[in-house]
Amino acid sequence: MMWYDSRAAHRRRKIAQWTADAALLPPGALPPELAAELQQKITGTVVLPGDPDYDADRMLSNPRFSAHPAVIVYCETEADVAECLDVAQRARLAVVVRSGGHSTGGFSAQDGFLLDVSRLNDVVVEPEAMTAWAGPGTQFRKLNAKLEFLDLHTPGGACPDVCVGGYMQGGGYGFTARIFGVNCDQVLAVRVMLADGRMVEADAKRDPDLFWAVRGGTGSNFGVLLGVKYRLYRGARFTGFSIRWQMEDGEGRAQAAAALEWLQAHFMRGDAAPDLGYQMIWAFEGPEGRTKTPRLLMRGMYRGALPDLKRLLVPVIQLPGAVVESFYDSTPYSELNRCLLSQPYEVPDFPQDMQPMPPPEAKLSRYIEQPLSAADWRRLIDCFLDTPSPYTIAAMEIYGGAIERGPDHPNAFLHRRVCCDLFFDVFWLSETEREVMADYLERWRETVAPFWNGRVYQNYPSPHDPDFGAHYWGEDYDRLRAVKSRYDPGDLFRYPQSIRPLPAATAAT
Ligand SMILES: Cc1cc2nc3c(=O)[nH]c(=O)nc-3n(C[C@H](O)[C@H](O)[C@H](O)COP(=O)(O)OP(=O)(O)OC[C@H]3O[C@@H](n4cnc5c(N)ncnc54)[C@H](O)[C@@H]3O)c2cc1C
Repeated sequence: MMWYDSRAAHRRRKIAQWTADAALLPPGALPPELAAELQQKITGTVVLPGDPDYDADRMLSNPRFSAHPAVIVYCETEADVAECLDVAQRARLAVVVRSGGHSTGGFSAQDGFLLDVSRLNDVVVEPEAMTAWAGPGTQFRKLNAKLEFLDLHTPGGACPDVCVGGYMQGGGYGFTARIFGVNCDQVLAVRVMLADGRMVEADAKRDPDLFWAVRGGTGSNFGVLLGVKYRLYRGARFTGFSIRWQMEDGEGRAQAAAALEWLQAHFMRGDAAPDLGYQMIWAFEGPEGRTKTPRLLMRGMYRGALPDLKRLLVPVIQLPGAVVESFYDSTPYSELNRCLLSQPYEVPDFPQDMQPMPPPEAKLSRYIEQPLSAADWRRLIDCFLDTPSPYTIAAMEIYGGAIERGPDHPNAFLHRRVCCDLFFDVFWLSETEREVMADYLERWRETVAPFWNGRVYQNYPSPHDPDFGAHYWGEDYDRLRAVKSRYDPGDLFRYPQSIRPLPAATAAT
């Protein structure tokens, strides 16, 4: 018999190094004695400023953000999470949680305690019950693969790297959201560790306020989300289509604007085409190295047979300027999602050798509720075409259908009666380009303002938004503040757009 711990020697060396280098640690770093105590207690990994991996580990998917956390901890068990929360409280460090690191506001890495749960990514599917539990660090690539193997589905998003932890708490839109509802509408129960280390399993009956808030109230607010129980649907295969309008000349732009007016009137709100989910993407496409062509793309999925989809789309295909690019016969969701966003060109269509990949990005989300005329759409299209960069995209994530009907148990995702989320994505490769694109984004903000309903999709936050509470939740922000006061009264989970607890006197009433 022999006892051997393959990690022990490395950990001993690391702890010795922290002690030796204590004087070199930047101010604000977790004191080495606390880091050592934590590392000895947990299964996961503690990373301090100065460690060889620190600079890579502190980055998010968007290289625009560059926080310097006091400590980064990769948790491997729920016990690890509890130890982290204890140390963060003792060190008086604000905590943010990271699952996939895709926050468009950069909120999953701040200068305090970064609690990473990407290793908590177990998926347990219960096919008889038509449910699945997923850990917060589960990438949609893995969840979809597990479900598709059993011909099961729950709505996910466009990007396979995005994780359950952040995505679900912000709503969760994808090609099938219009058919089944957004991702957080599928949640039957959640497991959350509160700031004091208590574990809560919340559902419609147990801790219903927390259950309401976690589904749409965004992450790093009420506790550490450690498990999500999803409702599943039979049938992981969908048919699909892709239609385009060219927007190179005046005639093409007029046709694209008229198509958007028609689609908004007939194919968005309410129960129009309930088995159809689709997005409209405004992008520049073309073979690498040649001039790119501006196009309006309509791409979507249908729960049904291809002949039925073709019949449904006849009035769209008959719109002036519409060109059918492809129809896809029954295809697994994740493969169809990939095809719709990469054929014939990726969206956005970056050169293969661009560095960094992905480049720094800024996003601006605006919900559209009122009907727009073709002239209104044309104004927006003209502003889009005025972009200084061929990598700019605008996309309309179309609502209505099951999103508008809402879930059995209401949640904190409140954008139900809208036509679409119209968002803009700009990218840059240098400081000069960043300034140019920031100016351009401002112009877009002003152009879209008259058509905006005042709400923003909370999964697409901009880092600077003083009115985020009103933009994400409107009048329900105060209800979220009350839940925050109850479950995180000490405001341990804190970042620029975290939900503010109510003043103590108000919270107690
Ligand atoms: C390339 C790309 C594609 C995207 N595509 C889509 C799309 O198709 N549809 C869509 O709806 N959205 C999309 N998004 C937005 C995405 O849904 C959000 O950014 C989402 O919050 C990311 O979740 P994450 O866990 O990957 O990121 P993270 O940055 O880790 O988390 C996001 C937020 O949740 C918090 N958080 C994370 N995990 C936990 C946890 N376990 N407990 C408590 N708080 C936690 C974080 O602190 C942060 O505030 C996309 C984003 C990117 C960058």
